[in-house]
Amino acid sequence: MHRPKRMLVENVAWAHETAARDPGFFSRLAQGQQPQVLWIGCADSRVPAETITHSNPGDLFVHRNIANLVCPADDNTMSVLEYAVRVLKVAHVIVCGHDGCGGVRASLLPPPDGLPHVARRIAPLCALAGRHRTELDAASDLDARVNRLAELNVLEQVRCLRESAIVREAERPPRIHGWIFGLADGHIRVLASGDPDAEHATRGNILMPAEAIA
Ligand SMILES: [Zn+2]
Repeated sequence: MHRPKRMLVENVAWAHETAARDPGFFSRLAQGQQPQVLWIGCADSRVPAETITHSNPGDLFVHRNIANLVCPADDNTMSVLEYAVRVLKVAHVIVCGHDGCGGVRASLLPPPDGLPHVARRIAPLCALAGRHRTELDAASDLDARVNRLAELNVLEQVRCLRESAIVREAERPPRIHGWIFGLADGHIRVLASGDPDAEHATRGNILMPAEAIA
């Protein structure tokens, strides 16, 4: 059985199991969505937002692209942000990058052949790497550079979101969080906790989830 066929079979099983566990689930789902969170993550198949946070349908409004970038000139990302903030009125926006990100890695290597869209897409990452060249060059190897640039990238997207007119001019601006998903252990590291004042006090420290929750 090829993968799409197997997915359809699994969907039937999931729908039956979900309805059996919670008979009102789908009627509530059909009534509309009120997600509290906009998730901006990488398109990487290993970082599925709902799975790694035990979230359910209706919990997360999701936008994913290569290297979880927020570019003000990108109508795709900005329309998602606009709708999430102005219509859904989400309380939180989470930017989640991850270790070993291929998009981040590509920005540290020569331009990829035959991938003009990817090359244009990661141009801001190349510029970010250039601004942090000294720190990145001090890393032990390429993997360490990739993981550090992935962190710097998340913080850059958090900054970009906080400066965007959509967030600044919101009646109740959402809190902007910056996270990194660790592929090696499945744990999320908190780079920006959603409270700029607290982040200023702990600048340079990466909070573990338990500290961020406290
Ligand atoms: Zn990635």
